[in-house]
Amino acid sequence: RSKREGKAGHHFFEPALDEQARMRREMELDLRLAIRDGGFELYFQPLYNLRDDCLQGFEALIRWPHPRRGMISPAEFIPLAEETGLIVQIGEWVLREACRIATRWPENLTVAVNISPRQFAAPGLSSTILQALGQSGLAPNRLELEITESVFIANIEKTLSALHGLRDLGVKIALDDFGTGYSSLSYLRSFPFDKVKIDRSFVRDLTEEGNAHAVIRAITTLAEALGMATLAEGVELPEQCEILRREGCQFIQGYLLSEPVEEHRLAGLIGDYAEIERSALRA
Ligand code: C2E
Ligand code: MG
Ligand code: MG
Ligand code: MG
Repeated sequence: RSKREGKAGHHFFEPALDEQARMRREMELDLRLAIRDGGFELYFQPLYNLRDDCLQGFEALIRWPHPRRGMISPAEFIPLAEETGLIVQIGEWVLREACRIATRWPENLTVAVNISPRQFAAPGLSSTILQALGQSGLAPNRLELEITESVFIANIEKTLSALHGLRDLGVKIALDDFGTGYSSLSYLRSFPFDKVKIDRSFVRDLTEEGNAHAVIRAITTLAEALGMATLAEGVELPEQCEILRREGCQFIQGYLLSEPVEEHRLAGLIGDYAEIERSALRA
C-alpha cells in the first residue's frame, strides 16, 4: 500500500492484523452467547449402505444461524472453538442433542457425531457420552463417534487407551477424512475402527478413465482385511456411486443422496428410503 493511501484511509491506523484480532474476539464472544442461549442447530445427512441397499443412519452436522451474519458453516467457527476450548461445551450440546433426536428414528438407524481433537483430549468425554446416552435412552451401539487422525498426534498410547475406553462404552468409532493425514496406515493398524470414512478428495476424481478407482480399491481391500467397513464421503454423481459399489465400498454419503437437512425433514427422508427398500425387495 502506498504512503498516500495509508494517510488518506483509516487502514493506516488499523492494520489488517488488528482487524483480524477484533473479528476473532467478536466471534468468540458471539460463540459464548450462542452456547448460553442455545444458538446452534443440528443438520443431518444420510449415510447409505450400498451393500444392503438401505439407509444406515445420519451424520449430525452443526450449524450456526448467526443473528447478524446469517448461517455460518462449521468450517468457519469450529477452528476458533477448538483454539478457545469452547468446543468442549459445544460438543456436549451436540452429543446430547444428536442422541435425543436419534431416539425418534426407527431403531435400526444410527447417528454419527464428530468429535474434534481438543474435545477428544479433554477429560470427561466418556462421562459426557454416558450422560447423553442415559438421558436420551439411546442404545450405545446406535451412536458412532467420528474422529480424525489428528487426535493421534498428541500421544499415541494415550489415544489408543482412550479409544478402547470409548469402545468399552459400546459406541462405534469411525476414522473421518481418511487419507488427508500423513501417516494414515499406521493408525489403521493400531486401532480397530468400525468404519473408515474415505475423504471426499479421493471421490472427487472418481471416473472410469482415471486411476482414482485404484486408490479406492486399495483402501477398501486394506480396510476389509483389517475388519473395518468403508464409507466414501462427498459422493455427488451416479457414476461415482457405481464405481464405489464395484470397488467394494460399503457405505456412501454425499449430495447424490441428500445435502444435510434440518430435523423436521428427516421423517420424509426416512419414509422415502423405506419406500426405495420396499420396491428393491419387490424387484
Ligand atoms: P466432515 O465430518 O467430514 O463432514 C462432511 C462435510 O462434507 C460436511 O460439511 C458436509 O456438508 C459436506 N458434504 C457432504 N456431502 C458432500 C458432497 O457431496 N459434496 C461436498 N462438496 N460436500 C459434502 P459441513 O457440514 O460444512 O462440516 C464441515 C466439517 O466441520 C465436518 O467435516 C466436521 O469436521 C466439522 N463439523 C461439523 N459438525 C461438527 C460438530 O458437531 N462437531 C465438530 N467437532 N465438528 C463438526
Ligand atoms: Mg464427519
Ligand atoms: Mg469427513
Ligand atoms: Mg471430510
